[in-house]
Amino acid sequence: MKNLSRRSFLQNLGIGTGAAIVSAALPAFNTVAAKKYDGKKLNIALCGLGRYASYLAEGLQTAQYCRLAGIITGTPAKAAAWKTKYSIAEKNIYNYQNFDAIINNSDIDLVYVVLPNSMHKEFTIRAAKAGKHVIVEKPMAITANDCKEMIEACKNAGVQLAIGYRLHYEPYHVELKRLGQEKVFGQVRLIEASLGYKAGDANEWRLNKALAGGGPLMNLGVYCVQSNRYVLGEEPFSVTAQFGPVTNKKLFSQVEESITWQLHFPGGAVCTSTSSYNCSVDRFFAAAENGFFELSPAISYGPFKGRTSKGELNFPTINQQQTQCDEIAKVLLAGKQLPAHIAGEEGLKDMKVLQAIYEAAATGKRILIG
Ligand code: NAD
Repeated sequence: MKNLSRRSFLQNLGIGTGAAIVSAALPAFNTVAAKKYDGKKLNIALCGLGRYASYLAEGLQTAQYCRLAGIITGTPAKAAAWKTKYSIAEKNIYNYQNFDAIINNSDIDLVYVVLPNSMHKEFTIRAAKAGKHVIVEKPMAITANDCKEMIEACKNAGVQLAIGYRLHYEPYHVELKRLGQEKVFGQVRLIEASLGYKAGDANEWRLNKALAGGGPLMNLGVYCVQSNRYVLGEEPFSVTAQFGPVTNKKLFSQVEESITWQLHFPGGAVCTSTSSYNCSVDRFFAAAENGFFELSPAISYGPFKGRTSKGELNFPTINQQQTQCDEIAKVLLAGKQLPAHIAGEEGLKDMKVLQAIYEAAATGKRILIG
């Protein structure tokens, strides 16, 4: 397949003149030399210093509109190591007990919650009560009711709540969304989106139902549901689902090992997905009336690879964490409302779908999504 540049790809679709409009809709990706910003930066405190927090911290090193200013951790050794590595002021370091004192710290504008899923609610609400904006990682929480409480708490505190949906700022995904929602290949009829990896550590919190809320559906399936929803620009109305077999009883005594589901959308699309902890898969495929578009790898941190029935997709590989934080920071610094597609309500919508998927798999029935 001929490797097309982004511009010729757009021209190849017969929408060359629309390219400028499309570009204007995209965030200013960091690979393009942009004018240096030297205004106030949004000061972010990371809450929970695990694996993903390290990715975020690295992304924040090159961010223009925000910076890593504080940390909240339950492990004193990590506090010391991060303080040195990222030059964090002692007064901006908290543990889970004294965290609420952050209310008196005007140096922190936003708390980014990167803890195990079941802890998202508590720390989001505590951050909101301390008057801080919040970004909370996916999945937003472990039940839809928890999501509602989090949204309510942020509203009552007058702070904004975003979900860490990094792919909303990623150029391949911005393009998938455009191809689907603008019906560039006609109405999308089916989507296959799956994400999985092989889990091996029995002590991992992701295999503990109380902490994770569920298995690969909670952790990985949420991306598949997300991509279906933003590519179609519609909400699913019903779902059927099936748990996969348990091949490793030692690892999967509390959460599912794999799960497959079919979401039905009002425009007629059927979206089939599997999320799995027993094999590696990372792909998105959409078939529309007049063509297809696909990505694989599709959901990881990239580099992504994709094509359509008209040619290869070719976009810059970006630092997803940096771009996401910068784009959110720009909006908050300007005192504006965060866009709906990454706000708390979006996490709640996904959680309702995840709950319906579990119900469908457990009952064997088609479940209506309310
Ligand atoms: P991790 O296990 O690497 O880190 C979890 C952190 O929480 C650790 O610092 C740990 O010390 C702390 N913690 C506090 N109480 C704990 C407890 N009771 N049990 C276990 N850990 C506890 O996990 P992670 O991969 O960093 O995931 C954290 C969150 O980030 C999850 O919600 C996950 O879904 C999300 N995440 C998002 C992405 C993404 O691409 N957006 C990627 C990975 C993880």
